[in-house]
Amino acid sequence: MHELALAQQVVRAVLAEMDRRGASAVRAIDLEVGGLEGLRPEDVRRAFEVEAAGTVLEGTTLRITLGGVRAFCPACGMPKPFELPAAHVPAPEGVLCPDCGAEMDLEGSRGVVVRSASMVLEDP
Ligand SMILES: [Zn+2]
Repeated sequence: MHELALAQQVVRAVLAEMDRRGASAVRAIDLEVGGLEGLRPEDVRRAFEVEAAGTVLEGTTLRITLGGVRAFCPACGMPKPFELPAAHVPAPEGVLCPDCGAEMDLEGSRGVVVRSASMVLEDP
């Protein structure tokens, strides 16, 4: 339940930011999920709904962007197409080149970043 831990981080970060700004509600949250987390947007959304339940973030619109992952084969000396396995696991450590079978280097981001959250500020 890796995505629950990430969703919990998001809920905590947004609640802390609301506190700092004196916001009463959040309309929408833009999230970027690291490509190397190996999560699907619907998994992240479901996890967020679980973690947000019972907080002021319940029902907030969530916009999710997945970060890209690039693979590079050092043996071929060129980048290769790579698709993350659609599984609930982080990207595997050893991904082999489809052409020569050497282990490829993967580049991408991990973790979850809150790009923006549109907050409703209380009346001054
Ligand atoms: Zn290769």
